[in-house]
Amino acid sequence: MVIGVPKEIKPGENRVAMVPAGVEELVRRGHRVLVQRGAGRGSGITDEEYVEAGAVLCEGPDEIFGQADLILKVKEPLAQEWPRLRPGQVLFTYLHLAPDRALTEALLERGVVGIAYETIQTDDGSLPLLTPMSEVAGRMAVQVGAQYLEKVHGGRGILLGGVPGVPAAEVVILGAGTVGYNAARIALGLGAHVTILDINVARLRYMEDILRGNLITVVSNRYNVERAVRYADLLIGAVLIPGARAPKLVTEGMVRSMKEGAVIVDVAVDQGGCIETVDRATTHDDPVYVKHGVIHYAVANIPGAVPRTSTYALTNCTLPYVLELAERGWKEAVRSNPALARGVNVVAGEVTHRAVAQSHGLSY
Ligand code: NAD
Repeated sequence: MVIGVPKEIKPGENRVAMVPAGVEELVRRGHRVLVQRGAGRGSGITDEEYVEAGAVLCEGPDEIFGQADLILKVKEPLAQEWPRLRPGQVLFTYLHLAPDRALTEALLERGVVGIAYETIQTDDGSLPLLTPMSEVAGRMAVQVGAQYLEKVHGGRGILLGGVPGVPAAEVVILGAGTVGYNAARIALGLGAHVTILDINVARLRYMEDILRGNLITVVSNRYNVERAVRYADLLIGAVLIPGARAPKLVTEGMVRSMKEGAVIVDVAVDQGGCIETVDRATTHDDPVYVKHGVIHYAVANIPGAVPRTSTYALTNCTLPYVLELAERGWKEAVRSNPALARGVNVVAGEVTHRAVAQSHGLSY
């Protein structure tokens, strides 16, 4: 099979869909991998590394889209990429079709097989190609929170771990899922006091079992959230109700009750945010604003700050599916792997994913 890896063109996107180890694996199995020159640059991977692994370098996207049976990307194709897609071509990437009518129509019109990373789902309900980005975002949330607590960045001037004789900072995390767990791990590692809240008691039990250190688990309800928010130096929003907007757990009044110079990192901003005063997403170029004396960080693509780590984290998880698609062809791969089958969003002009079809009022 011919597999193509174009350079990402979405502004600020520095990840790439395949690393040299993946190229080497595919080439060893007899496939041909085309990589666009410069595709790995943003993630610190040189063209020479791809060539050494066996890739064929292409100058531009036309060569890649024109020859490849399987296109690997990170972000959804942008309008200028749509005309390059060919009927029957398999496109494997984050697609997020539900809110994007124009892209959905373009993929239907081009007759591609669109397999979305974000809807690949294992039998236990987990989303293996979203997890790595939540891991990165959870760990980053503490890193950026610690930075904005520094006086030079406008914060309270508090060291997360304290020192002997001076208490550590109070980190409050809303949601004990993948983001929350990873944030808690890093905050505890730095010596902070951590309070983690969730509505799922089994999840809190698990947190207590596996995390050591100054961890307090608390059931999430309005009363407990209100009390925890008040004493937080760093508040991290990490809740998710799958398929829905994030619930606004922290009201504006609660934010007003926070300490001057405290920091909020609302990771759930990509689902609308779980803090009432987070009314817009921010960007890496202009990541924070201050409201009621509290620094708000609301970047919607936190992993973009560390593209090299994010690229490797993502491709570690995508490669097994890529190998299945390449070895068996998409039809056979989907037949034998139900998780991959759930990733198929469009085929030959038809929407094949229930939620995507419903969101556009299309038949399924
Ligand atoms: P997850 O499903 O693993 O965890 C979400 C947790 O929230 C679950 O444990 C759930 O029980 C809990 N929850 C639901 N309602 C709650 C409530 N009322 N109070 C407390 N907890 C509640 O999800 P995740 O992978 O950890 O993702 C969390 C959020 O982070 C999502 O919105 C996701 O889209 C977002 N995210 C953002 C970025 C970014 O760059 N900003 C990156 C990755 C993920």
